[in-house]
Amino acid sequence: MLTANDENNHKVFASRKLNSQRYFCTSCGNPVFIKLGNFKCAHFAHFSNYNCNINNESETNEHIIGKLAISKFLHKNNVFIEKYLPSIKQRPDIMFDDNVVEFQCSSINIKRLNERNDGYSKLKIKYFWILGSKYYQNKFNQSIKKFYTYSIKLGFYILFWDFKSSELIVNYQISMIDGKIIFKEQRFSDWNSFLVFKSKMNFGQFIIRNSLIYSIKKNRKRPIL
Ligand SMILES: [Zn+2]
Repeated sequence: MLTANDENNHKVFASRKLNSQRYFCTSCGNPVFIKLGNFKCAHFAHFSNYNCNINNESETNEHIIGKLAISKFLHKNNVFIEKYLPSIKQRPDIMFDDNVVEFQCSSINIKRLNERNDGYSKLKIKYFWILGSKYYQNKFNQSIKKFYTYSIKLGFYILFWDFKSSELIVNYQISMIDGKIIFKEQRFSDWNSFLVFKSKMNFGQFIIRNSLIYSIKKNRKRPIL
């Protein structure tokens, strides 16, 4: 976790500069301690004998650093990192306006994914799953299909975070033709340009384009006379 509450119940960010007072988990309230490893970015962790209702102890460095980078990428005034939502007992990685971003680097099963999405839907919160590097490297894997999102503008699409360049990678107009996955890819260095791009897309073009690819591929199978 990047954040914890101090003894005065003020939210603080994990940092090497923090003094030695006690810190508490923002969701379960149990005491936590600051970890200053050589390889990982500073973060808070629970003591092993405390059970937390939000289990995220196996956070990778990519996840910790990515959360901060994505929150900057959004360019919004009211961005909350790890804000606990008591009514649904969830703590999204990032929240802004009525949106949440979950930056997913590790595996998650469909049941857990649906529970998280249902929680946000209950509160009428729009959710975005942005996937980490392991997912991007294995993007043709079956396990990634549960993250496909459909929009009239983009068709089926999926979001990735490139933590080296701090860019959002969008794979969109995903379709399967002759058993092969076909998609387009676009990179964005701020959230607003992604939204502008999304609003300009036209689903009609998508249908034409895909039927075109299909007819091209179909014709190729025919023997050339
Ligand atoms: Zn906790």
